[in-house]
Amino acid sequence: MSELLLDVRGLEAGYGSTRALFGIDLQVSAGSITALLGANGAGKTTTLRALCGLIRRQGSVTLAGQRIEGMATEDIVRLGVAHVPDGRGTFTGLTTEENLRMGACTRRDKAGVREDFERFYEYFPRLKERRHQQAGTLSGGEQQMLAIARALMLRPRLLLLDEPSFGLAPLMVQEIFRIMGRIRESQNVAILLVEQNASLALELADTAYLLETGRIVLAGTAAAVRSNDAVRSAYLGGD
Ligand code: ATP
Repeated sequence: MSELLLDVRGLEAGYGSTRALFGIDLQVSAGSITALLGANGAGKTTTLRALCGLIRRQGSVTLAGQRIEGMATEDIVRLGVAHVPDGRGTFTGLTTEENLRMGACTRRDKAGVREDFERFYEYFPRLKERRHQQAGTLSGGEQQMLAIARALMLRPRLLLLDEPSFGLAPLMVQEIFRIMGRIRESQNVAILLVEQNASLALELADTAYLLETGRIVLAGTAAAVRSNDAVRSAYLGGD
């Protein structure tokens, strides 16, 4: 088993006086894909926001042995955590290429940045074709690809990915999931994947957690979670 990258214990978070997470325990191994599943409103997005310091949280979050739960988002990013929020968050007025450069703006290794440009254009040929196009005019799927590629330009150790399939046509979703599989193999980045499409997520992931109203109710290998009866009937259409 590979080394533990992220260790979350008793994570609590909420909005104002409303609590959304009631003590989440979750682990992500280096270079693995971990799926975080659950119904609407279960707390998946809130978990990602809490992990990267966008909202107040309690509990302990350890990244590669270092406690990060008290840190500001920019410091967490500097430690190698990249977040692709739902709604994607590209800079719509900038071109594809300018967005990718923004992703690399904290890096000093110019040769490495050039290599990454080539690599990501190989993963995402659509982005290469559209490198001079304004991000705001890209299709939803292309914007999602750009958001993922931009986050990877940071060379993160951990990618927090919120609903990459949201609102996309099935073929585009397949393509994005295929690319995520390649990224895992070649980039040594761990992915914590929040996904409504449980079936696809469980195909790709190594490990999975199921959230219900702010609590983890099931955890295990993706294969074990996929064969769980409750998961099959509620999230996999009973197949
Ligand atoms: P979905 O799949 O629908 O995106 P989710 O599992 O990501 O759902 P969250 O967005 O984390 O769920 O929401 C968890 C709870 O927190 C919900 O009850 C939601 O209404 C509440 N919540 C989320 N964002 C806010 C906010 N900005 N202000 C107040 N309550 C919020």
